[in-house]
Amino acid sequence: MSLDGTYDDDNIFAKILRGEIPCHRVFEDDVALAFMDLFPQSPGHVLVLPKTPARNLFELDDAGLQALIVRVKNVAAGVRAALQPDGVIVTQFNGAPAGQTVFHLHFHIIPRYEGADLAGHGRAGKADDVRLAEQAKQIAAAISA
Ligand code: AMP
Repeated sequence: MSLDGTYDDDNIFAKILRGEIPCHRVFEDDVALAFMDLFPQSPGHVLVLPKTPARNLFELDDAGLQALIVRVKNVAAGVRAALQPDGVIVTQFNGAPAGQTVFHLHFHIIPRYEGADLAGHGRAGKADDVRLAEQAKQIAAAISA
């Protein structure tokens, strides 16, 4: 999947947005949905995506991107407040050669903890659902506080 192409309505994030597949939700409004990454590179790894169909950064208009980045910041602030990491990575991949594997635009929020290793992008194992549910609850509470 290169940068050009057609949005696939059946990509996994489109299914999550339609509620056809469950997620550990941490935030939702009319602009964005944020949920726990099932394969976290670090504990507390969250994804933030726009509700508008867009394969990558180049396909969302400026107003949509402006609205989205504010949600990214607010969710990152919630992750920070809830999990007290020592640092936070915010990253985003466009096109398969860049590392993108799901072709609905999303930002990764990845907490970093002093002395703790980071799993490679796409190389982490699946996290325990009970733990993910706990983290989602903590982060959601911090966002709405
Ligand atoms: P990217 O490789 O940047 O497209 O990121 C896709 C991310 O989605 C990866 O970090 C995956 O671990 C994550 N992921 C894939 N399927 C799911 C899912 N069903 N629920 C939550 N996260 C997922």
